[in-house]
Amino acid sequence: MNSIELSEYFSEIYEKKDVPVFKVLIDGKWKGTEDTIDIISPVNQKKIAKISSVGDSDLKTAVDSAHSNKNRIRNMAAIDRIEMMNRVRLAIQEHREEMARVLMLESGKSYKSATGEINAAIERLRLSMADSKKIIGEYIPGDWSSDTSKKIALVIREPVGVVLGISPFNYPVYTTIAKVIPAILSGNSIIIKPPSSNPLAFLMCAEIFRKSGLSNGILQVVTGRGGKTGDYLVSNDKINMISFTGSTEVGKHISQIAGLKKTHLELGGKGTAIVLEDADLDLAAKECVRGSLELAGQRCDAISRVLVVEKVADKFAELVKKHMADYKFGDPTSSDDITIGPVINKEAAERINRMVKDAVDKGAKLVMGGKYKDAYHDPTLLIDVPLRAEIANEETFGPVVTVIKVRNIEDAIMIANESKYGLDSAVFTQDFYPAWEVMKALQVGNVTLNSAPSHGTSYFPFGGVKDSGAGKEGVGYSIEEMTNLKTIILDLSPGHLGKEYTGEFKD
Ligand code: NAP
Repeated sequence: MNSIELSEYFSEIYEKKDVPVFKVLIDGKWKGTEDTIDIISPVNQKKIAKISSVGDSDLKTAVDSAHSNKNRIRNMAAIDRIEMMNRVRLAIQEHREEMARVLMLESGKSYKSATGEINAAIERLRLSMADSKKIIGEYIPGDWSSDTSKKIALVIREPVGVVLGISPFNYPVYTTIAKVIPAILSGNSIIIKPPSSNPLAFLMCAEIFRKSGLSNGILQVVTGRGGKTGDYLVSNDKINMISFTGSTEVGKHISQIAGLKKTHLELGGKGTAIVLEDADLDLAAKECVRGSLELAGQRCDAISRVLVVEKVADKFAELVKKHMADYKFGDPTSSDDITIGPVINKEAAERINRMVKDAVDKGAKLVMGGKYKDAYHDPTLLIDVPLRAEIANEETFGPVVTVIKVRNIEDAIMIANESKYGLDSAVFTQDFYPAWEVMKALQVGNVTLNSAPSHGTSYFPFGGVKDSGAGKEGVGYSIEEMTNLKTIILDLSPGHLGKEYTGEFKD
């Protein structure tokens, strides 16, 4: 597929012109805007669609609609919300192939990655429907303290109100729907600002929500340049919570202008794998290649550098080279066997290549790859990368295996913890005690033993520390983030619960 052709089901979300012009979902209706943004496919550099670019007046309508409809979703019986989600799940399943093909063309994903992302969205729905039944409260007896001995408390979870979800380009369907699902299941209305580079498959998802019975005004989807739309929405007083996934730079800007709103920030990382002397080197190499190259390295949980103890570093590099040959690089729309496609755009490929060249200039050895054309950056292997190279410290977000030699476990821990990021990591060893030592010492939100980090449907909590963000994302954890705790205190002293009972208790 080299152009966007949608089935009749999605006919209301775009206008047919030389390329489809996608609309935005505001107050329950799809509408176009005068300003538009071109969508250029990273696969072939062709314009495949346009999206709407909303102005302040549309943004105001979206915010007002989300605000005035928030009690409709709050007052909807939880079981009805779950049933509506189930209809969404079935409809996504029905349109899975069509959505995956659009996702491939707009994002440059391989068929396996694109279908994997849609499947993860379906599974996330299924798990969240089950987990939302856990939105219950707590009863706290007061008799632990003399101060509260005549009181009890009920701690309940309530929706925050209006959630703003802003999502990045690398998983434009999954990360976006992972904001919509918990928001709605826990009774919030939500405004979504998807990435400008590739929002099409998610816009299809939004139509599925609308057609599955989500009442008007509970989900708004606005597209437009992040800086302009983002600043308007982030600083708006009718928004109660911001759930942002994206770069550290934008995350910091959001936290500066959000004021006192609740914010959940899932930001950038520099995923570090540590390979110790006694590791199963073949397994470690295979996993480090997978962690570095999957989705052309454009994952926040990618293995972005490998710290290998020097005694085994040469052998490890040989095995990495062997496993890199297992990946097929090229145009993902030419064959479903391609496993690595382009990065999101030409500028990203150029940026990655500058980092590779900087490392080589500073003394790294280029073993494989190192070139790019348009948005296609060759899978690349750099070894003996010095710590002063940019690629040793900054997020690569490209298909590069970056190998750094370290003297021992202490050096590895020190280098890992010097990073400003603290998102993901892995350790490879066959001995439990060093594994435990590293896993305890790393200042990160997540660490995986003997496998590349991979968080699938986020059943386990996921999130970073330091410059990688604040808060935890996950099936049940996102629901917690999107609810507030309220403490209801009952004073049981005579007279405080109504009239005192003066009669006699009867059996
Ligand atoms: P990005 O440039 O930060 O953009 C993310 C989103 O923010 C986009 O929708 C963007 O809109 C919007 N945006 C831009 N400027 C904004 C502003 N001033 N206010 C509000 N929103 C604004 O990130 P990206 O390049 O799409 O994604 C890659 C980054 O995301 C990487 O750093 C990666 O590590 C991180 N990420 C983190 C996680 C995690 O769970 N920790 C998961 C996935 C990705 P436009 O597209 O219109 O610019």
